[in-house]
Amino acid sequence: MKQSAVMRSTLGRLPLYLRFLQSLDITENENISATVIAKYLGFGEVQVRKDLNAVSGAGRPKLGYRTDELIKRLTEVLGRNDVKNAVIIGAGKLGNALLEYNGFIEYGLLITAAFDIDESKAGITEAGKQILPLSRLEEFCRKENVKIGIITVPAKTAQQICDRLVACGIEAIWNFAPCTLTVPEEILLQQENLALSLAHLKLQMNNA
Ligand code: ATP
Repeated sequence: MKQSAVMRSTLGRLPLYLRFLQSLDITENENISATVIAKYLGFGEVQVRKDLNAVSGAGRPKLGYRTDELIKRLTEVLGRNDVKNAVIIGAGKLGNALLEYNGFIEYGLLITAAFDIDESKAGITEAGKQILPLSRLEEFCRKENVKIGIITVPAKTAQQICDRLVACGIEAIWNFAPCTLTVPEEILLQQENLALSLAHLKLQMNNA
């Protein structure tokens, strides 16, 4: 099955499966069943089976999955062996929060630096991440082979930043600015709207 076909909800659970499997002594646990994984993680067995089938095919009757193969497959699907570099444009409150967040590496994503037009923001964060002047964007992206751009600037400058990222050879954009961006067909664009996500939750609460 293609990696792109893995559902978002499944993708969210894969790091937990991987962490559990990596904690096992493989010599003593050559095979692992969905039942054991479900029990340990407190998930439903049907869900575990469905998730693992989506990434690795069905387990063998009575034996389950080969632990080493499952680890290999989960590592692949999570992109852990193919880490993609990302940069943030706009080191304001949101940009900084994303820059400091450690959870992206679970999915093979490394935010290597943030850029800001305000040069007084340049420096090194407590976690050791670089904030660089925007003028260094092009040089940095080429040198560091950056593939993903994360936009956290105000809406009025987002398109201009997006165009610069595209010209740098970026392949995907994650846009937090509340505006619609235009990108060439080959560029992947994901629009994030934090307010909308929370509004969706609120709506579900009202309907519960
Ligand atoms: P703060 O108050 O800390 O600046 P903020 O998140 O409230 O944070 P915003 O006005 O949303 O500020 O701007 C986000 C960040 O984007 C700021 O750090 C700002 O300097 C930066 N910024 C604005 N325009 C650009 C631009 N064209 N290129 C790069 N960075 C920009």
